[in-house]
Amino acid sequence: MDTHFAEKTFDSGFSQIRERCRGISPLDAKLEKWQIDLLTGNSLAEWIDDFGSPLNVICPEPLVKNIEELNEVARQRDVDFRVYFARKANKCLALVDAAVSTGAGIDVASEQELTQVLNQGVSGRELICTAAVKNYRLLEICVNHEVTIAVDNPDELKQLLIITESLKQNANIALRLSGFLHDEIKLHSRFGFDIAAIEQIVEHIIPDAEQSRIKIIGLHFHLDGYSLSQRIAAVAQCLPVLDHMRTSGHQISFLDIGGGLPMCYLENETQWEEFWVQHAEALLGRCEPITYRNHGLGLIAINNELHGKRNCYPYYQSPVRAVWLAGLLDAQFESSTIAAALRNRGVQLRCEPGRSVLDGCGMTVAQVQFRKQHPYGDWYIGLSMNRTQCRTTSDDFLVDPILIPKVSINQTAYLKQTMEGYLVGAYCTESELISLRKFRFPAGVNIGDLIIFPNTAGYLMHFLESRSHQFPLANNLVVNRDDHESVQLDKIDRHPLGEMR
Ligand SMILES: *Cc1c(COP(=O)(O)O)cnc(C)c1O
Repeated sequence: MDTHFAEKTFDSGFSQIRERCRGISPLDAKLEKWQIDLLTGNSLAEWIDDFGSPLNVICPEPLVKNIEELNEVARQRDVDFRVYFARKANKCLALVDAAVSTGAGIDVASEQELTQVLNQGVSGRELICTAAVKNYRLLEICVNHEVTIAVDNPDELKQLLIITESLKQNANIALRLSGFLHDEIKLHSRFGFDIAAIEQIVEHIIPDAEQSRIKIIGLHFHLDGYSLSQRIAAVAQCLPVLDHMRTSGHQISFLDIGGGLPMCYLENETQWEEFWVQHAEALLGRCEPITYRNHGLGLIAINNELHGKRNCYPYYQSPVRAVWLAGLLDAQFESSTIAAALRNRGVQLRCEPGRSVLDGCGMTVAQVQFRKQHPYGDWYIGLSMNRTQCRTTSDDFLVDPILIPKVSINQTAYLKQTMEGYLVGAYCTESELISLRKFRFPAGVNIGDLIIFPNTAGYLMHFLESRSHQFPLANNLVVNRDDHESVQLDKIDRHPLGEMR
């Protein structure tokens, strides 16, 4: 095929697609080739007919590329390094398979996540369990399968003493640490052992490193947010503790810096800045609201001044992923860099990214069921989905959806006028908006049209999904590696008999 020609036609078709639905202050999504293929084809509409709305479409290929990008940064610096994919960010098993295919391990956060991965044929030795609360049964499975356990507190350590004694087996653990100093302030966390007290606690519970059935093989932290300088500080504070614990006989082989590697959802930094400028103007009453009932997204106007802070993921940011990791490895430490410090000690660096390695791996598709105009003029576009199906702990997903018109339209209901308004969902509450942002549809919206939320694989699909009102959970379709138009249900959704498409 003449690729030049193909690119040209694809270009003109594509920019048209974005124009059918944009935020009042636009935020254009970054899109992968597989997404553009599907957005310009007919398959999505067929899949919605077959599998219902909403529907999550997953492509594992970018996950492989994203993990390899991280591996390459470490390889360039000769740092022993391993990614543990945090699967709580997306429940699909196709993604576990893809991560394992790169040589990555898996971070599991519950008994269900753990047993599914074991049933998938992954060895327990390739796993770390970071569940926030671990019952006896979960700890027992971890010990039996030699899963590394990220231990959060003294009670967990003591439970492990009992379990390893009764099973007559060792447990490999990493101690989760917190309370790091950053800019002279102690970082708050509900998780982990305070770094200032850890050695004393370990000495008390595990007085003899060699005799104990509990083997401390790693130190671990996972910080809230995505600050590079906080992570540099945490690494710098962990390494001396690691050194000292080694001298007490603990054979610590790795330092695990958790997740929170940043990612970027948007094409354009200017749009991101303009969005916040216009939102501020709206909150101060100087222009029309661009969010539902002038929702602040974390900001509030008091006496003509804005207060508060953005309660949203930084959907545009830089550096991300590999460049960000390079920033950590190249940061100054001791007389050289963190990379050199890890190399010199023979310490493996591990990380547990969820969101950032899922960049480009998914999108959520929903069908329009109604439009109605409010007396004040705004339109409400009703979708067959609910707000838990595209949502994280952020106030909003600040990425423009994409509209694909239904091919054969019902003439009586057809509206080709410009409409402005909000996407609303299926839960019976006044707050049930799919997005708080106001959108413009220059060529209207019609029943049966599709609204596509791009790049939802990291957290947005599954982290908060609920079955309220007894709506079924959305199906998850995995696109085939070689042919993006052919799909199968992810194993997580398959009937026990293994129905496949
Ligand atoms: C949630 C979590 C992760 C993944 O975080 P991301 O922000 O998705 O990279 C990793 N480790 C632990 C302990 C977590 O709780």
